[in-house]
Amino acid sequence: MNGSGVINFSAGPSKLPEKVMEKANSELLNYRGTGHSVLEMSHRSAEFSQIIHEAESTLRELVGIPANYHVLFLQGGGSGQFSAIPLNLLQPGKTADYIVTGTWSAKAAKEAEKYGKVHRVIADVEKHVGVPCTTKWTTNPDAAYLHYCDNETIHGIEFPFVPESDGPPIVCDMSSNFLSRPIDVTKFGLIYAGAQKNIGCAGVTVVIVRDDLVGHALKECPTILNYKEQAACNSLYNTPPSYSIYIMGLVLQWVKEQGGVAAMERKSAAKSELIYDTIRRSNGFYVCPIEDKFQSRMNITFRIGSGKCTDELEKRFVQEAGKVGMKQLKGHRSIGGIRVSCYNAIHLEEVQVLVNFMQAFQRENTH
Ligand code: PLP
Repeated sequence: MNGSGVINFSAGPSKLPEKVMEKANSELLNYRGTGHSVLEMSHRSAEFSQIIHEAESTLRELVGIPANYHVLFLQGGGSGQFSAIPLNLLQPGKTADYIVTGTWSAKAAKEAEKYGKVHRVIADVEKHVGVPCTTKWTTNPDAAYLHYCDNETIHGIEFPFVPESDGPPIVCDMSSNFLSRPIDVTKFGLIYAGAQKNIGCAGVTVVIVRDDLVGHALKECPTILNYKEQAACNSLYNTPPSYSIYIMGLVLQWVKEQGGVAAMERKSAAKSELIYDTIRRSNGFYVCPIEDKFQSRMNITFRIGSGKCTDELEKRFVQEAGKVGMKQLKGHRSIGGIRVSCYNAIHLEEVQVLVNFMQAFQRENTH
C-alpha cells in the first residue's frame, strides 16, 4: 500500500508500484543531476537516449525478445494499433481473421474492416463468457494474419493457451496482461500492449514485431503508425511520449528486481485464486459469469446476489468498500457488476483485505 490507506483496484490507468512512484518523485524536478525534469528534456538528448535504450534492453531481457523482432514505443494506445495493424499488414487482396472474445477484440475487428475484409471467429457473441474451445485455427486461405486479445479487460476473459495458426502470423493484443506471465515471442508475428495497466502509465504502447512483417504498409498508412519508419528511427520519428517511456523503464526495472516475469506469474496466480476461491465458497452469493478455464487473472468480474436485488447489493458493495479505502471496483459500465483488477503492482496482502471484506459483506447481507 502507498501509505494513503487506499487500495486502488483500477482497471486502467492503474496502480503503479510504490517503488516506481517514489523513484519518479525523487527525480521529478532534477533528473540525475541534470537540473531539469525528464518532462523538460529533449528527446534527442544523451540522457533520453539512455532512458529509451535501457527501457528496450530491459524489456528484451525480461520477455526474451529475439533479435529478429523490432521493439517500438508508439503513441495512440491500444486503439491506435487497431488501425496500425491492418494499415501495416493487410496488403490489397488479403483478408484478416479476428477471434472475437469480448469488447476489445470486437473493436479491433471493426477498425480493421475500414481497410479490408475481416473474418470473425466468435466465441459467444451474446455473452462473452469464454473463448472458442480449440487451440488450432483454420484460417481463411488469403488471411494476412490472425488477431486475438489475450485478456479481455472488460469481461475478464483470458486465453489459457496461445492459439495455433495454420499459416498466417498471430497478432496479439496483450494490453491488459503483458508481463504477467512468460511468453514465447517466436509464436507471434506481432504483440502489442498499452502501458497503462501492467507496465507503466498512459501514453506509450509497446509493439513487438517480427522483421519480415515490417515494410509492407499500405500507402495510406500515416508515417507515425508505419512500423518500418518507426523502426528505422528507433521510435523517434517524432516527439515520443518521453515521460511515459521513462516511467515504463522504471516499471521494467522493478519487474526485474522482483524476479522477472515468472515471479509476476506466481504472484498473479496467488492473487486471483484467492478471489475466485472466495467466489466459489460463497454458495452463490458471488457469481463469476466466466467459464472456469477462461477466468482472467488480471480482471476478476463477478455479480452479487441473484434476481432483482443484484444492482442494489452491488452498489452497496462498491460504496462500503470505498469507505474502507478500496477504490475503483465498479464493473465496466457496459456490463455492470464488480471488477477487481489485480495487475502486477497489486500486493497479495491488498487482495487479502478485499477478500476479508467480501466475506464480511456476505455475512452482513445474508438473511
Ligand atoms: N485492448 C485492451 C485489452 C484494453 O483493455 C484496452 C483499454 O482498456 C485497449 C485495447 C484500448 O487501449 P487504449 O485506451 O490505450 O486505446
